[in-house]
Amino acid sequence: MRVAEVYINQINRNIDYSFDYYIPDFLEPMEIGLRVVIPFGVKNSKIDGLVIGIKESSEHKRLKNIEGVIEDYPKLNDWQIKMCYWLQKSYHCLFMEAVNCFVPSNLHIKKKKENGRNTYYMANALQELKYYKLSGKYCNREDYLAQIKSNATKQREILSCLEEIPVSFKELKEKTTCTTANLNVLIKKGLITESKEINIRNPYKDREYQYPANTLNRHQQEAFDLFNSYEKPSTFLLHGVTGSGKTEVYLRYIEETIKRGKSCIYLVPEISLTSQIIGRIMGRFKENIGIIHSHLSDGEKIDQWNAIKNKTVRIVLGARSAVFAPMDDLGLIILDEEHENTFKSNNRPRYNTHEVAKKLQDIHGCHIVLGSATPSVSSYYEALYGHVNLLELPERVKSIPMPEIHIIDMKEELYAGNKTVISRKLHNGILQNLKRGEQTILFLNKRGYSTFVFCRNCGYAVNCPNCEISMTYHHNIKQMACHYCGHKEHVPTICPKCNSDKIKYTGSGTQKLEMQLRKYYPQARILRMDTDSMQRKGAYEETIDLFQKGKADILLGTQMVTKGFDFKNVTLVGVILADSTLNIPDYKASERTFQLITQVAGRAGRGDKLGEVIVQTYEPDHYAITLSQAYDYKGFYDQEISYRKMMKYPPFSDIIYIGFTNEDEVEVSRDCLKYYDKLYKLVQEEEGEELLREMYRPTASPIKKINKKYRWYFIIKTNYILQYNSILNKLSKEKEIIELQSTLIIDINPNNIL
Ligand code: ADP
Ligand code: ZN
Ligand code: ZN
Repeated sequence: MRVAEVYINQINRNIDYSFDYYIPDFLEPMEIGLRVVIPFGVKNSKIDGLVIGIKESSEHKRLKNIEGVIEDYPKLNDWQIKMCYWLQKSYHCLFMEAVNCFVPSNLHIKKKKENGRNTYYMANALQELKYYKLSGKYCNREDYLAQIKSNATKQREILSCLEEIPVSFKELKEKTTCTTANLNVLIKKGLITESKEINIRNPYKDREYQYPANTLNRHQQEAFDLFNSYEKPSTFLLHGVTGSGKTEVYLRYIEETIKRGKSCIYLVPEISLTSQIIGRIMGRFKENIGIIHSHLSDGEKIDQWNAIKNKTVRIVLGARSAVFAPMDDLGLIILDEEHENTFKSNNRPRYNTHEVAKKLQDIHGCHIVLGSATPSVSSYYEALYGHVNLLELPERVKSIPMPEIHIIDMKEELYAGNKTVISRKLHNGILQNLKRGEQTILFLNKRGYSTFVFCRNCGYAVNCPNCEISMTYHHNIKQMACHYCGHKEHVPTICPKCNSDKIKYTGSGTQKLEMQLRKYYPQARILRMDTDSMQRKGAYEETIDLFQKGKADILLGTQMVTKGFDFKNVTLVGVILADSTLNIPDYKASERTFQLITQVAGRAGRGDKLGEVIVQTYEPDHYAITLSQAYDYKGFYDQEISYRKMMKYPPFSDIIYIGFTNEDEVEVSRDCLKYYDKLYKLVQEEEGEELLREMYRPTASPIKKINKKYRWYFIIKTNYILQYNSILNKLSKEKEIIELQSTLIIDINPNNIL
């Protein structure tokens, strides 16, 4: 018998390698990439695994046999398996975690007997709907009923209600409360027939969308022509100001790619997925679209997968995980709003979608299009000096001018006696907009009510008991909540430390802002959009719909309101406190602030009326603020890139984050130091001084504890990512490291290191 190398479907560091199994003859021809059921462990429990190799013999003795192949399970192709190895090596995940990117992960494997043998299938694959009708054996219902005993009431009931047109089981059940057993008896008697139809579960299929093509303007046409002139697989950066018509250009690229017989992946940051883009892309391409995101049910996911595999779907729209869609003939990957940090995964595999796309480009020879009004500094650097082609849309469609941005120094507001969070200019703007019936968007980067509760007498601050971080007061539940672990508790009326009753609330979140707005502008219709108010399913779409239809005057919210919206009647945008993103201890803080201001400003003046933007801040002279005021992306880029170069931050290096968490404060530091020392020695032996200098000493994390777990970390700022990755991979296989009690996190270029 031949031998298969099988990875066990378990997320477990101790078995992150393949096991050998015999392939019984009845399962030949076995293929690499198939999903199989195998006996595993001392108890020989049946679990599933993935065949990643086939060979004539094994060096191991007493192999067990594979039990069966799981029917209908999407087989992994060679390129997908190659990608799994690459993900494992590059992002330090387990092989099976990489595999789970490429296949729906909840299998619900079921067993059935066939010719005396166990066979396996997935219970949630292919949802079959059953339909029933009268068999046509008799001409009228009386003759049918005559075949049934008078006391078989259920059967008589079914026959009375069936026609010669098929009725679904669901419908029949509602009318008669019948069971499958009742129906089977009738089928056996030849009185009724059953038919099956496969139901493709797609939550969007019943919606009607329209988005006719626009005639391209000059800049759009140039961008389109340049794209078309490239035969070889290339990467493009489409830098277009907000409202310049980037979406129209993407849709043309897609159209062109489909014409050439290839398929497309269109990636967007998660949050805008449910908003206008679905309407536009479905309006243009109808049922040719598959939609993949984390809120799909397992069944829906499998159906989308099958539709892609059998080519009913040629375009996949989705958040970052859709980059793993099983398209064998990929021609184009689009990353819309490419600068967004949601393109980096914060869970294993901690991949960067940009890098995955590049890997897919190597495999399929597809084009990549990155698009943004505020490209990430790294992408723009690539476009200037690397292998990325820059395409520019410098003007808004129909040449509507960019809205004017005013900077308000909030210190001066205070001197002038204005103690509210709304400056006089913003106040007047809101009043004017209310009078004119135009809409306003207000952006504040903090949710909750008060972000800091403390004792004025002794300075005691109310921190979360599980995390070393202050709690936020939420007015709707009249409690404080921790934004890291979700812990809630009542606000103390007396300070637990000094018994004073001088408990003070400071810092405003979106909830407080909403209440203030309701007080100042009682006539205004106000909507709030943040993770607290968007919990309910459908809340997000409802809010957008209300605002779109002009049923609200003010939309206020967190980052959710900054992205992608195209509302024609919004003429005023206010940034309540620009500093909140500026003061985060992260090398990307300035970039993030520049992007947020520019993006949210881009929501104003998209119709025929001119827009206006008011940015409130305590740091009016910061370059991220002054340069966003001037819409000077290149000026900002120049400043930022020289800072990055000086500090050796990306794109001039890669940052490797190595963190440990543990409920035991002593153990976590010990494990972190131990790992550091082992790594240090390995690097010294294998690479030498230059790489050693790139390692920074371990220390407690800026947030020392999250969810009861203490945290330590160190970073490596490196120009030798490949060398480091291979050393880290080697280290992870060492027994001593596997046996460390603390949880190890390796994150390449993480979104933050807090
Ligand atoms: P961006 O994504 O760059 O912010 P959009 O793609 O949302 O811009 O385009 C802004 C608006 O202009 C949309 O309402 C879109 O339908 C419209 N539009 C885009 N291209 C054209 C065109 N060539 N002619 C007319 N209208 C256009
Ligand atoms: Zn006190
Ligand atoms: Zn907490």
